[in-house]
Amino acid sequence: MDRRKFLGGSMSTGIGLGGTAALGPLDAAQGGPKRSPDLPPRFTPSAYANAGSLHNPFATPDYYTYTDDVVIERQRPGKPHAGKVLAAVQAHSDDIPLYAGGLVAKLIDEGYTGYLIRISNDEAAGRTLGQGVVQNEIDNQEVAKALGCKSAVSFYYRNHRMDDCAEIEIRARLIFLYRVLQVNTIIMMDPYDHYEENPDHLVAARAAEAAGWMAGGGKDYPEHYKAGLKPARIREKYYHARSPEGHNLVNRIVDIGPYIDQKVRGNIANKGKGPAGTAGARLRQELLKQGKQLPLLGASDETANFHYVKHFLMDGWKSLGAQFGLEYAEAFRYIGPPQNYRQNIQAYVKQNAVPL
Ligand SMILES: [Zn+2]
Repeated sequence: MDRRKFLGGSMSTGIGLGGTAALGPLDAAQGGPKRSPDLPPRFTPSAYANAGSLHNPFATPDYYTYTDDVVIERQRPGKPHAGKVLAAVQAHSDDIPLYAGGLVAKLIDEGYTGYLIRISNDEAAGRTLGQGVVQNEIDNQEVAKALGCKSAVSFYYRNHRMDDCAEIEIRARLIFLYRVLQVNTIIMMDPYDHYEENPDHLVAARAAEAAGWMAGGGKDYPEHYKAGLKPARIREKYYHARSPEGHNLVNRIVDIGPYIDQKVRGNIANKGKGPAGTAGARLRQELLKQGKQLPLLGASDETANFHYVKHFLMDGWKSLGAQFGLEYAEAFRYIGPPQNYRQNIQAYVKQNAVPL
């Protein structure tokens, strides 16, 4: 995303100055999507419009399609995922904190060891190309810390040029990491995200998805095994869409209410780009120069950053949550562990085999 354009527009038009008053569409969202009177009765809608955000172009996408077996994943007590490893794979340093930061924080709190993998160098999001590389490198580390990840890795492919890269190389590097880290679960952008503008997103997602399958195979990159690595059995995958264009199939709504403050901090950590970072402090300073203050932002730059992000930029996930009776939610296409087909056949044989 283009932070300069977003903030340039937001500051000059005074976005956010409407404060808490501007809640109309969000109120409408409390009752869920409304059927358009323009839709003839013979048509059954197959996609559902999100109320979206009034303040953040990078919140929930315009539409979701829901499966009939959608599941709400809530906070799980104890550490049910102890011993498991997740990889959150993102093209850019703001993708995971914006669209899946609550999920990552939740799963790590429930016992996962987490790693944040960034595919690009984010050079297109800075004051200059060079400054963008340096700032986003720092940000990626800070995002990982804020979400509770053990460490962060970057591949440094050139920003917005990933369709010029060999996808097979990105995939091979991910297979290596999945095996080294013994990843069980991947969180990533949906490789089938509709209407995607950013070439990096689809290339990174396709590579991450295929790597998740191939990392478990015994024949791909056999030198890994000669060097002592073990296959990585990826058992679970969470795919997120992204706004404004994204639209994907949702079968898992994750209750991120208990983790919303951590998601906020993950987004504040993105100072080089994204709508969050230090936008709250900058707005506060701008108002101070005009002899004004916004009570919402509190009395320091730190509180301004936090409340700006929580109040303005999280509203899309708030309205999504409200439709499911939750405070905040994120939406995913979840792919769980496959059946143990061989075991199922063996069980059938044991029960049904009879003497000749
Ligand atoms: Zn991105």
